[in-house]
Amino acid sequence: MHNSLEKTGIPTTAEVDAAFPPAERLAKGPVAVIECFQRIPCNPCATSCPRGAILPFADINDIPEINYEACNGCTLCLTKCPGLAIMVVDMTWKDKSGLDRAVIKLPYEFRPLPVVGDDVVALDRAGNFVAMARVVSVLLNHSMNKVPIVSIAVDKQLVPIVRSIRVDVRQRAVVCRCNDLDEAEISAYITGGTTSIEELKRITRLGMGPCQGRNCVPIALGMLSRALGLPIDELEPATYRPSVKSIALGDLAKYDDRGDGLP
Ligand code: SF4
Ligand code: SF4
Repeated sequence: MHNSLEKTGIPTTAEVDAAFPPAERLAKGPVAVIECFQRIPCNPCATSCPRGAILPFADINDIPEINYEACNGCTLCLTKCPGLAIMVVDMTWKDKSGLDRAVIKLPYEFRPLPVVGDDVVALDRAGNFVAMARVVSVLLNHSMNKVPIVSIAVDKQLVPIVRSIRVDVRQRAVVCRCNDLDEAEISAYITGGTTSIEELKRITRLGMGPCQGRNCVPIALGMLSRALGLPIDELEPATYRPSVKSIALGDLAKYDDRGDGLP
């Protein structure tokens, strides 16, 4: 069993079953599922949990152990795990469409990000197609060392099988070519609470590429204006810095700022 994981990188069904919370705990609300099977020097999950639900490590190589009753499914550990080994499952999620679906909250590092309402491909632990899943939220994390969380609704029976998603590349509406930012990503930051062009610049580097914001800043201002319901001229403008033009040292040497004929 252990060899299988080492050879393929894919946990067996028994290993996945052992990593899942018991049915009674799943029935109470959102909870973390930690699929970290090998001893490696890593512990941000344990140090980041605000509820002490992931038991303190005696040794940094320890495999995480979780107290499911203490976990409330807050997803903080999920965003801190460099191995993307954690997801949060909510079997109590209420599906407004009336279908018997649960929500799985997954760390998602790829681009483009999906947007709420997209249908994405749900994959198993070997990367095989399982079903289509509906994206119900996309949570961007502003901190550099946290990954975005994509929440998907899937049939409850598929919860133990689904472990990742594939977003089929659609026609992207590019906002910033210098930094490869598309409309979906900028929209997600705006719906996540970003309200100024300066914030967008600092988070995404929008406007900081070679075009110096000539193309992307007006587009992003339009998006902010529509989202906030404010005219563009009432939005806080971006900070502009003087443009820089290269100049040859020889030309500088010829510059005569005193008018005495000497450089
Ligand atoms: S989901 Fe939140 S409460 Fe649960 S183990 Fe992770 S950090 Fe702790
Ligand atoms: S942070 Fe992730 S990879 Fe590291 S020990 Fe915890 S679960 Fe495993």
